[in-house]
Amino acid sequence: RAKADGRGHFRVFTPSMRDELLRRKKLMNALRLAIVHDELFLLFQPIVDTTTGKTRGFEALLRWRHPELGTIPPSEFIDLAELSGQIVAIGAWVIDQACREAASWPSDLFISFNVSARQLTDNALIACVAKAAATHGIACERMVVEITESTLIDNDAAALSVLHELQAMGCSIALDDFGTGYASLSYLQRFPFDKLKIDQSFLRKLDGENCDDAKIVRAIGELGRQMALTIVSEGVETPEQLALVRSARCALAQGYLFDRPLSPKAARDRLRQEGATVLGIAFERPATA
Ligand code: C2E
Ligand code: MG
Ligand code: MG
Ligand code: MG
Repeated sequence: RAKADGRGHFRVFTPSMRDELLRRKKLMNALRLAIVHDELFLLFQPIVDTTTGKTRGFEALLRWRHPELGTIPPSEFIDLAELSGQIVAIGAWVIDQACREAASWPSDLFISFNVSARQLTDNALIACVAKAAATHGIACERMVVEITESTLIDNDAAALSVLHELQAMGCSIALDDFGTGYASLSYLQRFPFDKLKIDQSFLRKLDGENCDDAKIVRAIGELGRQMALTIVSEGVETPEQLALVRSARCALAQGYLFDRPLSPKAARDRLRQEGATVLGIAFERPATA
């Protein structure tokens, strides 16, 4: 069997493609109930200061525990949720839960969350952020909204006004996966970013201080200084990668070297080990005084 793909080409459907299609259809239907059935949860990955190693904030990363299929990564269901429009409700849930968790951390820590294209241009986003701030008593100044270049491409003007509004409320804006999309550097002028997150692909193949990827990381570090943007390096897995990121003077880093995405409790434990005052600590320790 063959089907036109819209560009005058024909693709053959193999059994494995059919299985894949069925799986996606199944996931899309199941996703409708994921919130109601309490199957979604967040993990929190620390983002650390590259000079002191101290945790400065966490990124909220979404997971879905499907009753039969197990834990499904966002790479498998975010685009489905975008297609069906469910991302708006799911995204609102993410922001609420992320802020709820952040309210238990020291108030100088930020909470970063990912926002997709459809969410960014949905009218409810601003109200959703304001509501999460009010409900959980956390300042918008602690919130970092992460968007990717592809999010901006299709809705330039609408996205721009939402980003300005979020910033006016106090939120920071981070450009995620920097360097991999189609966007040109003119995006850095057009959109009001506070942070750039260097995509982990630049660290992945790192091979010596003088390879091209190392030069790119250093150049992005310099770009950040010139444009007064905070640079976050993603996917730092090895001490060598950290050394590079530091020599490039990237202020913040995130990756398995520091921690994997953590459960809410593990995130609080990490903070406690660092000596931070975490809300609720008195309830978890035997009283001493
Ligand atoms: P992202 O925002 O770029 O998040 C970073 C991804 O890199 C996460 O994958 C994280 O687990 C992974 N990672 C962190 N450190 C390392 C490392 O040292 N090595 C390697 N190999 N990977 C590392 P994850 O959690 O699977 O999320 C994938 C993507 O899904 C995210 O990329 C983000 O674009 C999207 N996503 C996650 N949660 C949400 C959400 O709540 N809403 C939306 N719209 N998208 C989300
Ligand atoms: Mg992100
Ligand atoms: Mg990223
Ligand atoms: Mg990514």
